[in-house]
Amino acid sequence: MTWTLAARSARMNPSVIREILKLTERPGVLSMAGGLPSPDGFPVEALREASERVLREAPREALQYAASEGYGPLREWIAARLGARGLQVDAARVLVTSGSQQGLDLLGKLLLDAGSTVAVEAPSYLGALQAFAPAEPRFVALEGDDEGPRPEAIAALADAPEPARFAYLLPNFQNPTGRLMGAERRAALVRAAQAARLPLVEDDPYGELWFDAAPPASISSLWPEGSVYLGSFSKILAPGLRLGYVVAPSALMPKLLQAKQAADLHTSGFVQRIAFEAVKDGLLERHLPAVRQRYAAQRDAMAAALQRHLPPGCAWQTPRGGMFFWLRLPAGLDAMALLPRAVEAGVAFVPGAPFFAGEPGEAERRCLRLSFVTLAPARIEEGVAALGRVLHEAIALPRAA
Ligand code: PMP
Repeated sequence: MTWTLAARSARMNPSVIREILKLTERPGVLSMAGGLPSPDGFPVEALREASERVLREAPREALQYAASEGYGPLREWIAARLGARGLQVDAARVLVTSGSQQGLDLLGKLLLDAGSTVAVEAPSYLGALQAFAPAEPRFVALEGDDEGPRPEAIAALADAPEPARFAYLLPNFQNPTGRLMGAERRAALVRAAQAARLPLVEDDPYGELWFDAAPPASISSLWPEGSVYLGSFSKILAPGLRLGYVVAPSALMPKLLQAKQAADLHTSGFVQRIAFEAVKDGLLERHLPAVRQRYAAQRDAMAAALQRHLPPGCAWQTPRGGMFFWLRLPAGLDAMALLPRAVEAGVAFVPGAPFFAGEPGEAERRCLRLSFVTLAPARIEEGVAALGRVLHEAIALPRAA
C-alpha cells in the first residue's frame, strides 16, 4: 500500500535535537545537551497530595470531558498571577493548552498560510520553528544582538511587499541563547511593531526562572491588543503535566478556541485540577525560590568552568535566568562536526545551527547550546573540562596540519 502524504508533511522534520540526544544518551556521557528541567525540582509530594485531593473531592468531574477553554479556577489563577507580574488580563482571554507547545501549533494554524511571512529571532526556539513549519510559511530572521532582535529589523519588515503575519519573540532567558531583553529594548520593539502594524507572539516559559532580579514587564503588557502571550507550567512545576496557556486579544479568542477544539477538545481536566490544587495555596512561593537557587548555583558552576577550561576565542554571556549558555566558538570551528568528538570524550552539547530558520552560515555553525540545569555542579565542571580539551585539540589540529 502506498500512502500519499500531504504536501505539508514535507515540512515536518525530525527534531534535530532529538536525533542528537540519541547520540548523547550513551552511558558515561555527561550531557549538557537536553533542555530538561531538573527532576530534583519537581514538587512530587505536593502533586501527590493534590491528585489525591482531586480524586477524593471531585473524581467524576475531574475524569469527565471538560470545557475547551480550560478549568475556570485555573484560568482565574493564571490571570491573577500574570496580573501580579504586571500583565493585566481577564481570565476570559486565557486559553489553557496542552503545553505551550500546543499554543505555538494552534497559532501557526490560525495565523499562517502557505507562503505567508513569519518573523523569528536568529536563533529561535527550534520547537516553534517546527510548530510553524507545517503551515508552510516563509521564515524571516530578525537580526539581533545580546539583548534580542533589533527594532530596526522589525521596522525593515514594514517595507516588505507582503506584511508579516507576526513576529515570534522570546524576551526572557531565551532558548537557546539565554539572553534577556532589557526594558528599553522591549519598548523599542513594541514601538517598531506598532509602526509596522506587526502583531507579536511572546513566548515566556522561563520568565519565573530568574536568579538575581525579575525580568522587565512583558511585551504583551506594553501592547495588549497587538500581542499574544504564551506561558507554561513546565519549568515551574513539571513538564510531564503538559500544561500551558495562551493569552490572546479578545478578537482572536473565538477562532483560537475552535482550533483548540479541533486539536484535542480540551487539555486534561484531571491534570488542570491537580495543578490548580497544587498551586492555589502558594506552592510556587515556597517552591520557586529553591528552584532558582539550585539553577543559579549550577549557572555559577558553569560560568566558572567555562572561564577555567575554554580556549581563548570562545565567547559567551552569563545568563541571568533560564537554563542555557550559548557559546560562540573561534572562527573555523563547526559545532556539529565537533559533536562526535565531544561524545567520544564523554561530553555532549547541542550544536547551534538547527536553531536558525535559514541555511546556517559559518557564524551560525560556530554556535552551541549548553544546558546547566541537568548536571550537578561537580559534573558540570567535569563536562566543561572535557569540552575544553576537545576545543583545545580542535584549535591545535589545523595549525599542526
Ligand atoms: N517555548 C520555549 C521557548 C521552550 O523552550 C519550550 C520547551 N522547551 C516550549 C515553548 C514548550 O514548552 P511546553 O510545551 O512544555 O510548555
